[in-house]
Amino acid sequence: MERMTRQRRALLAVLEEAGRPLTRGEWFRLAREYWPRLGTATLNRAIRDLTAEGRLIGVDFPGQKIRYELPSPSDHPHFICRGCGKVFDWDRPTPEVAIDIPAGFDVSGHEVLFYGRCPQCGPAPARK
Ligand SMILES: [Zn+2]
Repeated sequence: MERMTRQRRALLAVLEEAGRPLTRGEWFRLAREYWPRLGTATLNRAIRDLTAEGRLIGVDFPGQKIRYELPSPSDHPHFICRGCGKVFDWDRPTPEVAIDIPAGFDVSGHEVLFYGRCPQCGPAPARK
């Protein structure tokens, strides 16, 4: 049974407005701006249920806490800022990866990840 309470709609709206995958902590802080009485248990339950219902996708990047994003109709690459550590969704088709898969490996998917600096952080300071 699917249960979409007003709370959950509000939580998903916060995620959508952020426009990028959020960690549990980021999501909690943003949601509290609209909803000061939100508790962590409520968010945790919503994350568990929405993930089980396929309304939320957990994305796991190396060296990062798990982040959550809305299911996207198409595959898209991600970008990690080396300045602030934020992860961004790029609304672009994922580039094809041509690779000769070694024998014995059954590949079920792949991630395309770009690194660098986001517009807010600006270019890396020049090294002297
Ligand atoms: Zn940044």
